[in-house]
Order: sequence, then structure tokens, then C-alpha cells
Amino acid sequence: MKHFFLFFLLSCSIYGQSKYPQDYFRNPLDIPIVLAGTFAELRSTHFHGGLDIKTQQKVGLKVYAAAEGYVSRIKISHYGYGKAIYITHPNGYTTVYGHLQKLSNRLEEYIKQCQYDKESFEVEVFPHTEELLIQPNEVIAYSGNTGSSGGPHLHFEIRDNEERPMNPLLFGLQVKDTKAPYVSAIFAYPKDKNAIINGNNKRTQLRLIPQKSGDYTVEEITAYGKIGFGVTSYDKQDLAPNNNGVSNIQTIYNGNRSFEIDFKRFSFEETKHIKRFIDYDYFKTKKSRIQKLFIEPNNPLSMYKNVNDNGYILVEDSTANVYKIRIRDYHNNETWVTIPVKGKPETIVQDSISDHTNKSLIYSDKTTNLNSGLVSVNFYENTLYDDTYIDFKVSSDTLFLHEDKIPIQKNFYINYDLSNYKTEHLNKIFIANLHGYYKKPSYITTTRKGKILSAKSKKFGTYALAMDTVAPTIKPINFQDKKWLSKYRYLKVKITDDLSGISKYRASVNGNWILMEYDYKTNTLIHDFNDNIVKDTKNELKIIVTDNVGNSSTFEAIFYRK
Ligand SMILES: [Zn+2]
Repeated sequence: MKHFFLFFLLSCSIYGQSKYPQDYFRNPLDIPIVLAGTFAELRSTHFHGGLDIKTQQKVGLKVYAAAEGYVSRIKISHYGYGKAIYITHPNGYTTVYGHLQKLSNRLEEYIKQCQYDKESFEVEVFPHTEELLIQPNEVIAYSGNTGSSGGPHLHFEIRDNEERPMNPLLFGLQVKDTKAPYVSAIFAYPKDKNAIINGNNKRTQLRLIPQKSGDYTVEEITAYGKIGFGVTSYDKQDLAPNNNGVSNIQTIYNGNRSFEIDFKRFSFEETKHIKRFIDYDYFKTKKSRIQKLFIEPNNPLSMYKNVNDNGYILVEDSTANVYKIRIRDYHNNETWVTIPVKGKPETIVQDSISDHTNKSLIYSDKTTNLNSGLVSVNFYENTLYDDTYIDFKVSSDTLFLHEDKIPIQKNFYINYDLSNYKTEHLNKIFIANLHGYYKKPSYITTTRKGKILSAKSKKFGTYALAMDTVAPTIKPINFQDKKWLSKYRYLKVKITDDLSGISKYRASVNGNWILMEYDYKTNTLIHDFNDNIVKDTKNELKIIVTDNVGNSSTFEAIFYRK
């Protein structure tokens, strides 16, 4: 028995990549880990920073500290991680727990004190090292669905001592995964105008041929010059149908390593460059993410390694070549794609020569200002990845600023000069992004300096002015005016705004601020009488809700408690 145990320990340190502590962090739930999302999987504006652990479609599961340590940060926000706890451990790593329903009694008491002190539901605090010590296996919270979460789950992260998220599975957490990744599409890309793929000089989808083994080949392609490839791939774990991300992709050209991306760790500064990693145009058109297996200029992602000539291959005349893609999940299940490439110069079929008339050139490394009518748009250095011709047109107050198909790395600035506007509601006007088929206006944060309105954005598209003169609505959900609410645990109201959206709210009872938790997904504000703030018999409730252009509504009611 003793020997067996020793052997077990030994094998852990051999196979468990002893670089990272194994068996230090426990599963933060007391059910087996089933993943709805893997580390670094592709999201719309970022790589996923942790694991999304399923909670059996329920909220309220006990969440355990993954190891002892101290609470170094608590953040409560309407969006993002919702209610989130950060625990820093003696070994230097920090674990993060997001979308929590509520914290443990001790932590809940601590954060409510902060919320009442600041008179705000949204708070962010950084307790001292000695303040909130956490014991091994301590229940720190209950799982939930708060913030920008699309269903009950626990978002769990492990960050290194430089705040960079790492794949928590590197630390030995167990997930059952015996299935290899699968591939849904393969593309070839010309590097420049001299490269040819099957007679074309554009992105070309290749026909995948699945093999019995689970691997794939494609029909032989003819090519010439420098080309790269792209792949759409996912991984499924054993116990869930979710299409999750893979953990490593390598390419090999004629037996030599050409490219690798290893999704082990990244920094939050670089995560936005996912727009450069995926084919953004294809994603916006087809809603599917092609991972580019080559690196274009201005791509600072740190997850690449063993890259030769930026991942491009050089195909020469009359050569027979083999390009292979090896896709792995974290458990080293792997899938291969084999692409035979025959070198053959061909005359390029030109379907359209790009026409730049009526387009504006935005340099990637210079400031560019566009002006027309009421509108000016400012692009600073490194807003775009490449020098790009874009559509820019202003018609009345509508700004047509290309289509959202080009990745943008930094904000550009839109300004409207309303000096000649004569309307009594000038201060109710905001800049809206018009989106979707019906060009629905949505508020973007608009600042005002005299008669100049400004907003920033990272998305091309159509913008226009919109006016909101209607104040938010406030309706009680579970009570009525002048009633006894002695047996009630919660006070619930519904708040909505038709156009610019809710910016802030304030609730008080007999003049004292009360905490009301806001859930934007259900438009509800909820006060918990267990906060013990409401102690009088007769209570005057007052709630003020303000929208993003400053229209505000006040709701008043009286209730009794004993
Ligand atoms: Zn998550």
C-alpha cells in the first residue's frame, strides 16, 4: 500500500509538469468539473480567462476556496463577472470566482458594510493581507448567474503573480476528456498579391475529407508563393455537449515546424488582439471563428511559439509538399489535418480589382481625421492593424463608417458639432450606434462639451444622433402602497428605460440609503430586509432612477413592518 502511494506521487510529478504546483488547488465545487467553457477559448472581444464550470443548471451551489490564502479583492458589478471574489495564495497565485449569487456570511457582511458606506451596489475593494484570511476548504460563496453570464455557472480563474490568467487545468484539476478535437473548416490564405491558391488570390475554403481515425485530409491544392492556413476547430469534453476551445495548434510543413499557438497563459493587455488572431471579416459575416495559423504585422500575442516565417509556407514551382495541422486538447487528445500542396504557378483569376474611389485611407501608424458636415472622426496611431481604405459618408446626422468587418485595436473618436442645432432638447441628444437589420439605435457613452458631442468606439458601422426625452419607469413587483410587509424577505421593483438606458439609481427608506441589487437581465432591483436597515414601523420608500441622458423618475410608496 505504501509503495503504491509512493508510486502514485512519483507519477504525478512526472506527468503533472511539476513546473506548476499539482494538488495544491482543489476543485472549487463539490461536484465533478464539467466545462461549459475552456481556458482561452475564443470569445467576441477576448480570450476566455478561465474555466466555466457547470453548476447543474442551478444557482446556490457551495463554492470553496481552491486553497488557503486571503481575500485580496472583491468586486461587485452589474456586468462582467457580477459578484466576484479574488483569493491570493501563499504560493503567489490568485484564484478568481465569478458570477456568484452571494458570498459566505462572513464575506457578505464585509462587503455589505462597504456597500452601505459607499451607498452603492457596485463596489470594488482590496482588503489587507490580514483582513479576510481564508482556511483550506472554506466555503466562500454560492454559485450564481450574476453579471454578464448567460446561465448559471462558476467562472474560475488561476492567475500568476503578474495577474496573467493561466489554464487552471495545468494545476491538476480533473476533467474527463477522452474525445479528440474536431475540425469544421479549413482555409488557405495568400500572403500577398503574388500568391496563388487553386488559381485564386483570395481566402479559399478547402474541402475537408474526414478519415475513419478522426483525422482529416483535404483534396490536393495547387499553390504558388507564400500562403498560410486557417482552421475552425472545437473540443468537446466527455460529459457535456459544449463546443469548447482547443489547447494547442501546431503546423508542420514538409516535416519542419512552421507555427504553434499554445493557449496556456496570456495577459489581459493582449487579450483584445483576438481580433487579429481570428479572421474578423469571416466571423462578422458567418459567425464562425477561423483561427489564423500565421501571424500578420502588429500582432503582439504572446501565445505563439516555434514560428518560422510567421507561419507562412513558401510553395515553389513543380514541388510536392505536405502541410499538416495538429490540434490538441488539454488532455493531449489530438486530431491531424493533412493538406497536400502542389507547386504550380497559374494565371490568377481576378474577380474584382479593389476600387478605392470614394474611400478614405486610414493609416495604421498615423493620425487620420475625417470630416464631413456635422461629423468628425479621429483615428490615432495603431487604431487599425493595417493601412485600410474605409467608407466614410455623412448624410444629415447619420454617419456611415464602413462596416463592422475590420478589426480595430484602439478606440476612434466620433464628434458631432451641434452649434447650428436649435432644439429645446439639445441635452437629451446622444450618439447612437445603429445596429441590426432594423438599425436599432443603442446608446454609446456620449460626453458633451458645449455643443460638441463626443463618443468613442472600437467598431465600424452606422452611427446617428438619437434623442431620449422619456424618463425610466419604476414599478413595484411584489408589494403595493400602504401595505404591511412584515413577513416579506425582499422588496422588488422593476426598472426599465426605453432608449438611452439606465445610468444610475438610488433607493432610500425614511431618508436612509438602502442597498438594492440590480440585475440588468431581469430589470429588477431587490432589497433584502435581512440587511436590517429597515427598522421602523412606518416606512417611506423612495427610488430615483436616471437614464443616460439625465431623465429621471421618482417612485414613492409607504409600507409598514413590525
Ligand atoms: Zn467565464
